[in-house]
Amino acid sequence: MVKVGFLGTGLMGQPMAQRLLDAEIPVVAYNRTLSKLEPLKDSGAETTDSAADAIAAVDCVILMLADADAIRQVALSDSCQEALKGRTVIQMGTISPRQSQDIQNQIVAVGGEYLEAPVLGSIPQVKDGKLQVMVGASEDQFQKWQELLKNFGEPLLMGPVGTAAATKLALNQLIASLTAGFALSLGFVKRQGVDVDKFMELLRDSALYAPTFDKKLNRMQDSNFADPNFPLKHLLKDINLFLSEAKAEGLEASSLAGVRQVVEKAKNAGLADEDYSSLYSGINQTLG
Ligand code: NAP
Repeated sequence: MVKVGFLGTGLMGQPMAQRLLDAEIPVVAYNRTLSKLEPLKDSGAETTDSAADAIAAVDCVILMLADADAIRQVALSDSCQEALKGRTVIQMGTISPRQSQDIQNQIVAVGGEYLEAPVLGSIPQVKDGKLQVMVGASEDQFQKWQELLKNFGEPLLMGPVGTAAATKLALNQLIASLTAGFALSLGFVKRQGVDVDKFMELLRDSALYAPTFDKKLNRMQDSNFADPNFPLKHLLKDINLFLSEAKAEGLEASSLAGVRQVVEKAKNAGLADEDYSSLYSGINQTLG
């Protein structure tokens, strides 16, 4: 059976590694903040304070790190580069297509293999094994690794490295734009004295409705953004990645640039680590 190195056991990585352990797949876990490894250790994972040791001990390494800088610092350090030879890296965080291709090139140059498998869905979907797993890889890599990826949800081969990263950014652009659009309309009807229940009743019956609106309604109504599944700072990262790729492609993306201003306003008000629906505060309160 394949032995998996898991680098990055934050909000998503910890329950994802737990899914592997639940399937009796041996895991060697590394995280910069060592205390976050404790639940996995209690569940039978080997843990280590060295990413290079984790890589050297396994066949396949899953990365669930915050961003491309974290990947370079954790998995592409001098000590890791040697260990990567002959190993396969599956990158599952949200980074841009160009960042993913750069990282692929670096790993291939030291004799490793690389595929990307970013995910849509959050902690509840991890726990249920219902993530949507977008795979950027060759057909052969997909055939080889899809059984492992099925522990997280149903994998879909999008195309070569870069295509899955691009798809993930396109989806997160929708998260940002839909949430900001809903927050603006919600703030507007409240200030206009419209009954929110009646507004929601109409919205739910219309073609404009998206399920994410109801998922975020109570948080926005109560200004309760604690215990996030997906923090605002990561949505801002993804907005910035999307804007930079869109610019390179010659797309007019100023609608999303407007959303970025709102998200930055919420971040500057101290909400970076709160749920991303806190962008509502950037729209509906006088912040900063
Ligand atoms: P998170 O809780 O913030 O975890 C980030 C991980 O990256 C932690 O292990 C953190 O280590 C590590 N890290 C960050 N900067 C580092 C650095 N400079 N050096 C070493 N390690 C570093 O984030 P998450 O929610 O699990 O998300 C992980 C990735 O998945 C992100 O790309 C995110 O956009 C994406 N994603 C998240 C969700 C979601 O719902 N949360 C859904 C889909 C995709 P420490 O513990 O030491 O800080």
